[in-house]
Amino acid sequence: MISTDNASLVEKILRLKKRRNAVILAHNYQLGEVQEIADFAGDSLELSQKAAQTDAEVIVFCGVQFMAETASILCPDKKVILPDLHAGCPMADMITADKLAEKKREHPKAAVVCYINSPADVKAESDVCCTSANAVQIVENLRDAQEIIFVPDQYLGNYVANKTGKEMILWPGFCPTHVRIQARDIMRLREEYPQAKVMVHPECRPDVAALADAVLSTGGMCKYAGEEVARDLIVGTEIGILHRLRNENPRKRFIPVSEQAVCPRMKLITLETVLWSLEEMTYEVKVPEEIRTRARSAVDKMLTASR
Ligand code: SF4
Repeated sequence: MISTDNASLVEKILRLKKRRNAVILAHNYQLGEVQEIADFAGDSLELSQKAAQTDAEVIVFCGVQFMAETASILCPDKKVILPDLHAGCPMADMITADKLAEKKREHPKAAVVCYINSPADVKAESDVCCTSANAVQIVENLRDAQEIIFVPDQYLGNYVANKTGKEMILWPGFCPTHVRIQARDIMRLREEYPQAKVMVHPECRPDVAALADAVLSTGGMCKYAGEEVARDLIVGTEIGILHRLRNENPRKRFIPVSEQAVCPRMKLITLETVLWSLEEMTYEVKVPEEIRTRARSAVDKMLTASR
């Protein structure tokens, strides 16, 4: 619901969006009011699919840098704008293309699977991308790979390795927001809400994932919440997702594992910065062509496998 305080801002955004022929895409971790004005809110996979399909001239990406880069990789002819230049992802910053190239030299026969939460030039060094929604499927598809390097999230990598039974070389990256979700909090909440189901994101630590009924991407959580008969659901991911879960399931109760699970970079995007970005057409995110074409191959392989 749009508050009356925000009504004039929203009106200006919608008017300008139309004039610019823009589409607004928002990640599930965005502030509720930002999700409300988006044409589409979803997880990384859903957003990259939407970006690839849109016929708008401008994509306003309410998310973090690597997401806007992915839109630029997929849509080189469109103007992709990120409302706050500082909205980066600390996990994506835990790897560089040079360091990955060094790792590839150590393991020349390895296939590289790159979580979408990574810089464009790291995607360009990779064989295939994945998101948390399709990582297991992508790794399962690599039947002939003798070795697999998985970057940059060690916890998603560990989850995928357990699910597929494949040994993988894991990059030591992690999400500083998801490590705030602790096993002891889940155990306490399970005692408090014995009927509840627990769903957590695969970026959580393995001891947390081991306690969950379901380990899911945010898009997967929305689907699970709609289908699950339990009325109470304990949610282990960034708390922005609660907005959508509660909107879509007004009769259910959603209990966050930790109120501290807030991604400060995601929260840099506000209605004010969205309006400003449409007024000034800033900040444009454009991946250089040489990197884009190589990264595109890894992103396309992922999208093809997820159809
Ligand atoms: S929640 Fe974690 S992985 Fe997602 S953007 Fe924030 S820091 Fe990066």
